[in-house]
Amino acid sequence: MTKLQKSYGRKTISATLKPRDLMGETPRLKGAWMAKVVTLFPSAFPGVLGESLTGKALSEGLWQLETIDLRPFGEGRHKNVDNTPSGGGAGMVLRADVVGMALYQAQRDTPNDRDKWPVVYLSPRGKPLTQAMAQRFAKADGITLLCGRFEGVDERVIEEFAIEEVSLGDFVLTGGEIAAQALIDATVRLIPRVLGNHESTEEESFSDGLLEHPQYTRPTVWADRAIPEILLSGHHGKISDWRKAMAEKLTKERRPDLWRAYCAKHDRDPNEDQEQ
Ligand code: SAH
Repeated sequence: MTKLQKSYGRKTISATLKPRDLMGETPRLKGAWMAKVVTLFPSAFPGVLGESLTGKALSEGLWQLETIDLRPFGEGRHKNVDNTPSGGGAGMVLRADVVGMALYQAQRDTPNDRDKWPVVYLSPRGKPLTQAMAQRFAKADGITLLCGRFEGVDERVIEEFAIEEVSLGDFVLTGGEIAAQALIDATVRLIPRVLGNHESTEEESFSDGLLEHPQYTRPTVWADRAIPEILLSGHHGKISDWRKAMAEKLTKERRPDLWRAYCAKHDRDPNEDQEQ
């Protein structure tokens, strides 16, 4: 894929780069989940999403990506997209009028129903991204993601477009692009056929509210460490019990919050089996 491309999802798209640039829209592939990303740095996409399984699924049209460059919507000769914070203080804020125009463009061919098409601002103030959220996004027709920069975006644009804020975690990034890619990755791998037959989303961390059991592969002994014998026993029932027990142990040790929620869901006492 060339750097100039702004859309991905099928190979012929680069041939129509110019006209589509003018129209500002990407032809939609039927049934393909689509991510529209509003960003000052469209060349950061698809980034890591272009690799491996997500990349393959993208080129096969199982999902689509469209970037909407904020810069052309900027003000004046210099295409300014930001200005100083009202009330003073450090840094710059992305202007509501500029971001608004990009979001109007994004919603020209998308449903207004936020269940069908969530509009998300990646932001440290948002709800932390979870597997349940990724599952909700994967069930939608697509998503529009707004990547902030500098001190963030003018609050009015968040209100006007009924935007939900989603955070990657309790830390501050320089921009929303990495967070957007993380959200897209977590979502796209839940779309049927993206992972193929060899990978399963059913047994992995969080799917049942537990962290995943430890994984091993050959060699059977490495650095004097052997693979737990049970995994080599061929006893599927016992292996599955062991994995469940390990998942519970890890979750209890590392994530008391998840453990309590899991116990509540399964009617169990979170303090059972406590070592005296
Ligand atoms: N002044 C803001 C931080 C701005 S960081 C504050 O204190 O809340 C610049 C941009 O990076 C944000 O607009 C947001 O889009 C992105 N960003 C930073 N941290 C993030 C996080 N934890 N999750 C998602 N996006 C984040």
